[in-house]
Amino acid sequence: MSASVIKVSASEMKKIQLYYQSDRLAKTAPYTLFTAKKNQTTITAYQSGKVMFQGANAEKEAALWASSGTTPTAKKAASGGDPLPAGFSERNAIGSDEVGNGSYFGPLVVCAVYAERTHLPRLKEIGVKDSKMLTDPQIRAMAPKIKALVPFQLLTVTPEKYNQIQPAYNTVRMKVALHNQAIRLLLEKIAPQKPEAILIDQFTSEKNYRTYLQSEKNAVTSPLYFATKGEQYHLSVAAASILCRTVFLEELDKASKELGFRVPSGAGNPSDLVAAKILQLGGENLLGKYAKLHFANTEKAKKIASRN
Ligand code: MN
Repeated sequence: MSASVIKVSASEMKKIQLYYQSDRLAKTAPYTLFTAKKNQTTITAYQSGKVMFQGANAEKEAALWASSGTTPTAKKAASGGDPLPAGFSERNAIGSDEVGNGSYFGPLVVCAVYAERTHLPRLKEIGVKDSKMLTDPQIRAMAPKIKALVPFQLLTVTPEKYNQIQPAYNTVRMKVALHNQAIRLLLEKIAPQKPEAILIDQFTSEKNYRTYLQSEKNAVTSPLYFATKGEQYHLSVAAASILCRTVFLEELDKASKELGFRVPSGAGNPSDLVAAKILQLGGENLLGKYAKLHFANTEKAKKIASRN
């Protein structure tokens, strides 16, 4: 089955939404605006501004809009960063990303992946792309295939460890240290090979990153590139993100099993309620094994626990 993805502006998205209005399907998946079926093609529009066309006439249907959209590779790096060099997506590159930073429960996971030019077709074949466009079961199924194909370095900071580090290291500094460590360890693994580029899915300005890097013992300072939505610029970042997410999900599973009830991801109200339950079971000591205690959820959970 063929598939095409385009990225469009907000105003263009409105036009697309209107155009497929009468062909819309009832189902909606996370991060989507709508799903429609027309012309033997499934059209899925994402909050990110991406539209995916899948099916017999995917290319044809996408072509209706493609001129108005920009292809991700042609787009310049967001957030004021320098545009990445032409042909960047075809380089032998290390990509790194992290998952779990915004979730109250579960670890912070960082991963770096080295994808050579020759790996790219196989990564595509496996289905590697922006993990926000993939379901959790798809992500879990891909992880072992990615691990069998490319060199990688995963680092997991359990909530317990996170709570020890966090007062001294703010989360940005922690992430800089972790990305740097994952990249450094991966460089050792692949030596004497050297990547043509190292792309970090951007979480802070390059200036900030380099400032924090100065306090790291073995700082990797080049050839560094930064881009928000880095997974659009190189499959190594997309693969790294998928490996991170898989570990994060596995850790949440493990926590749920230990506790005997489901531990949610995210930082919303369900997290407060589950945290309150854990507080009642074993106080803040137990909660600190599973949650990042500096989140506002902890105080909310304490209030809930004291009411019950
Ligand atoms: Mn990221």
